[in-house]
Amino acid sequence: METCINCNQESDGNYCPNCGQKLHLKKLTIRYISSEFTDRWLGLDTKFTRSAWGLFLHPEQVITAYLNRNNVRYIGPLGYYIVMTALMLIAFELLGLEVADFIKSTNENLGLPQGSGSERQLALQENISGWISRNFRFASAFLIPFLTVGVQWLYRKKRSFLENLVLITYLQTHTIWFLIVGLLAFKWTGFWVSQYMTLVSLIYFCWALGRFDDGKITFRKFFKALLTWIVSYLLFIFTILLVAILIVVLVGEI
Ligand SMILES: [Zn+2]
Repeated sequence: METCINCNQESDGNYCPNCGQKLHLKKLTIRYISSEFTDRWLGLDTKFTRSAWGLFLHPEQVITAYLNRNNVRYIGPLGYYIVMTALMLIAFELLGLEVADFIKSTNENLGLPQGSGSERQLALQENISGWISRNFRFASAFLIPFLTVGVQWLYRKKRSFLENLVLITYLQTHTIWFLIVGLLAFKWTGFWVSQYMTLVSLIYFCWALGRFDDGKITFRKFFKALLTWIVSYLLFIFTILLVAILIVVLVGEI
């Protein structure tokens, strides 16, 4: 029998049955302090690796476990988002790459015009790309609300809005891995592969959403997921245009 140091309950298990405090205490070392922080507060132990691998191999298992309120096996969607965003920023930092270069190159690859148009248009372009650079860390999050609305609409009555939000947050966050791979590829080959990585992310999204119900994917399910993505993306573009028009109208009046 051990006595809990938190609530004095006596028990012979690994954890206190009353408050969850560990009964077999580890020595206070640097290692204890760092692992207590990374494991408990960041979920960076086996939980994180298990979740990341799980989302590559069988995303529906990871997400269903969380939706069934199992919070021991996998890291939650918000924790996963925060850790992955941090990893992305660390990758940029370690590789010595600038977010602005990355976006400029992406635009060039997509054939968007560079440095053309009047001074006013150029200033506007600078403003927009500056804003995107500053908010790049949230880029994968921009689409989350729109994809959630899209899934809610095309997969009616299957899940609640909050369940869809959890599902989409996991999937969108997971695509940060493809961005990191793109950054590494650039560092090693000098070739921006961002547009291919975007395509890989899209294929991953359709595959994962398609197999969500029973872990099986068919062409029909894949294309339904693709349709969902397209509808959500159009909704996203439409919203941006609407906001842009509103800003122009309001600024024009001032
Ligand atoms: Zn206790």
